[in-house]
Amino acid sequence: MDYISTRGQAPVLDFEGATLAGLASDGGLYVPREWPRFTKEEIAALAGLPYAELAAKVMAPFVGDSLSYDRLLELTTQAYGRFSHAAVTPLKQLDHQQWLLELFHGPTLAFKDVALQMLGLLFEEFLGRSTQNLTIVGATSGDTGSAAIDAVAGRSKVDIFMLHPKGRVSDVQRRQMTTVLAPNVHNIAIDGSFDDAQAMVKRMFNDKAMTDRFSIGAVNSINWARLMAQVVYYFAAALQLGAPHRAVAFSVPTGNFGDVFAGYVAAQMGLPIAKLIVATNVNDILHRALSTGDYSAGTVTPTAAPSMDIQVSSNFERLLFDLAGRDGAAINAQMAQFEAEKAMSLTNAQREGAAALFVSARADADEMAQAIRWGWESAGELLDPHTAIGIHAARAFAASGDVAADVPVVTLATAHPAKFPEAVERSTGHRPGLPDRVGDLFEREERCVDLAGDYDTVAAYVAGLAAPKV
Ligand SMILES: *Cc1c(COP(=O)(O)O)cnc(C)c1O
Repeated sequence: MDYISTRGQAPVLDFEGATLAGLASDGGLYVPREWPRFTKEEIAALAGLPYAELAAKVMAPFVGDSLSYDRLLELTTQAYGRFSHAAVTPLKQLDHQQWLLELFHGPTLAFKDVALQMLGLLFEEFLGRSTQNLTIVGATSGDTGSAAIDAVAGRSKVDIFMLHPKGRVSDVQRRQMTTVLAPNVHNIAIDGSFDDAQAMVKRMFNDKAMTDRFSIGAVNSINWARLMAQVVYYFAAALQLGAPHRAVAFSVPTGNFGDVFAGYVAAQMGLPIAKLIVATNVNDILHRALSTGDYSAGTVTPTAAPSMDIQVSSNFERLLFDLAGRDGAAINAQMAQFEAEKAMSLTNAQREGAAALFVSARADADEMAQAIRWGWESAGELLDPHTAIGIHAARAFAASGDVAADVPVVTLATAHPAKFPEAVERSTGHRPGLPDRVGDLFEREERCVDLAGDYDTVAAYVAGLAAPKV
């Protein structure tokens, strides 16, 4: 399988190359040259497989010749063996139409583990084939950082530098990063927002002084391999609910548009998806873009769902590229305008193409709290704030009459409620406890440096500690 950049200029790479490259050298994002497609019979044959096997079958067409099927299956077996639930991503029924897909049974209690446990193994596999060292630089609104650090801590040939916005991640999220004391792990708290941190990371990928000396790798969802791993659970859930003979809708708490884009990919592969509901909080650039075509960044408002406190959604570019007939030059111009003016408009083709599969909804703090309460009072489930925003959107969608009552609506439960205990307790009176596997988090030693939110300072810090390319 070949990978091409959304901006049309960067070299074409295979899966191994795209995994190690992260961001494309022209500032774009790698996507497969075409979407692999399963027939209805092929999808039906996936029903009932153990998760690791389903994962290998869904990922195989994207991996191409970079791994044999048997090796891929060994890696998925190892990655998903670390989950605390035998189903890996269990599905729970909330009412006659609403379902919850629990994606938080990995080591750091958020859905990011599903992709990053796999990505850590892919890095190790591919780096083992050469003398190359990898310097991972990432920005986190909370959950990517801990999941990525868990996935690569202590691995040779990889250094990880993780930037988080100082004071804007929860205590559990911060401790899950800063208490990992492996020598290849470097936590950086920066003065600024997640978007500031993400902009610095993107700049480093295009900073020749850095890329000449270091192979900079990505663990953010700009890395294609992450999205590939997330496609799998859309299949897992839909197959359980009757696909390919029945269509399913998904509601996805959205920030960087990675998770919901994986749903789009599943639909392109032939999985019958009735609708993808993009659920946002008050940081609603995606809701505005999908409902009015106006893609313009405001300022970030901190909320109780910090992993969605984003105004620039990197992976939206992948959708815009597909909906623009995969015209890299057009996307290059559109994104250049966005980078210059912090605003741009979707074309009619992009708006109509998006409307065929996506709807969007926005939840404010009250609506989020009400959804947490609904989950507890009507189904006995404690929902984290991100998941609650998805539930709010899912219930609004079901009530809108835009979907038949027999179409199941699955909300992706993106974090364990114990990651955000205050918000859950405020709405339900119940404080979710941390699962035993992360029990002593609050006793462990922390390690982190504070840096100014300034690119040169961060680049100098990375350059001082990272291992050179070879
Ligand atoms: C990262 C994250 C999101 C947003 O996912 P995207 O792929 O960035 O859209 C939602 N909820 C939680 C808990 C997250 O960690």
